[in-house]
Amino acid sequence: MREATLDHLIAKQTDSTVPFSVGFEMTSRCNEDCSHCVRSRWMGNELTYDEIVDILEQLAAEGAMELTFTGGDPLVREDFLPIMRKSHELGFALFLFTNATLITREIAQELAKLRVQEVDISVYGVTPEIHDGITRLKGSLRRTMRGISYLDEAGIMVNVKMVLMKQNFHELPALKAMCQKNGWQFRYDYILFPRDDGSTDVWEQRISDDQIRITDRMLKDDEIQTAMVHSGLSDVAPSLPDLSVVDDPDMIPMDAWHEIEQSAALGGPMGLSESHCMLTPDNETDNELISAESIVSADEPVEETPKKKGVCSAGWNSVSITSWGEVLPCITWRMSLGNLRNESFKDIWHKSPLLERIRSLTHDDFDEACSSCGVISKCHKCPGLAYSEHRDPLLPSSDRCRATQAINILEGDNGPAEAAS
Ligand code: SF4
Ligand code: SF4
Repeated sequence: MREATLDHLIAKQTDSTVPFSVGFEMTSRCNEDCSHCVRSRWMGNELTYDEIVDILEQLAAEGAMELTFTGGDPLVREDFLPIMRKSHELGFALFLFTNATLITREIAQELAKLRVQEVDISVYGVTPEIHDGITRLKGSLRRTMRGISYLDEAGIMVNVKMVLMKQNFHELPALKAMCQKNGWQFRYDYILFPRDDGSTDVWEQRISDDQIRITDRMLKDDEIQTAMVHSGLSDVAPSLPDLSVVDDPDMIPMDAWHEIEQSAALGGPMGLSESHCMLTPDNETDNELISAESIVSADEPVEETPKKKGVCSAGWNSVSITSWGEVLPCITWRMSLGNLRNESFKDIWHKSPLLERIRSLTHDDFDEACSSCGVISKCHKCPGLAYSEHRDPLLPSSDRCRATQAINILEGDNGPAEAAS
């Protein structure tokens, strides 16, 4: 039987340089103030509704199909719903990243009508002490859980994302169990990006190598009990936090929030980034086979699988746009390719010399430390992460090296990776 691999299809799509998937930061504003946030100051100069619509039309004309709105938190924009409606009208498949604190029942129902595919929500634990401690917004866990319950009720797929830090690692099993119990997807990550001013103080919140190993085992073997033992938790299936009291007078009302925001300093370097890419390591093949009949007719010859181009999808079939119109290869790779207030998307996408360079990169272009690294086959290298650390996407990221080495020891392979900075 002739067989084609998913690699074949992915490589063909990647080869096409169509900006299939777009990450769009609606705003850099947020009503939370997370301790690990990469943003070191508020950004300004936000795109207007008309500018956003114009950009959306340009993206649609270039073949973009998937639109992920993120922020800051998109819901702090007063025109959040009109933007969502216009995006739906233009035919995009819509995804949303939010803290869900501002999701009302009516908004959730409207999002369902707009056929929003999935909402990713940041949750940092199951107790207000931990979650609210990280978001630095009192009452935020209860508000987030209320938003999730409205989305769930509206039939929208909920994907809970947990960034693991020293402060909340012990709540990982409980949050995972809560998501399983409620039928929500659950994903976690432990990579903390340096802040946008280059400072790495956020790394003080990183989990230990042992904790990385525990999470890796959970990812592969669902060994929640192992993690429980290490974290000392006994209750792994807590109920939802009490959602009955939602109008907490201690919460910052949105009017007050907007006042605070108005008085905050605006401008500065690029802001928020967030890891959203789960790449397979370089040498790992996707072994999932699908029958050739589902892709090509029996008479057609099966093409040789094209070689994947580039080092990842950034700049090939995915791209990101900031709330002030900057075009980036990826939401995590915050290198400006041009600004949509000065140039058309078409010109940037087809003529940017930087994009041309990005598309010409291969894994051979990575720094010598990577090419000679003993665990390169297990490394989820991310040029965006390297760029945020070194302003050079080809250097090894010290955080990635640390995580790969920790997991490598767990798997019992010989020799950890050479440390890189
Ligand atoms: S572990 Fe570090 S040195 Fe090795 S391939 Fe990954 S980023 Fe490069
Ligand atoms: S820059 Fe990193 S997060 Fe973005 S697509 Fe590439 S590997 Fe994924």
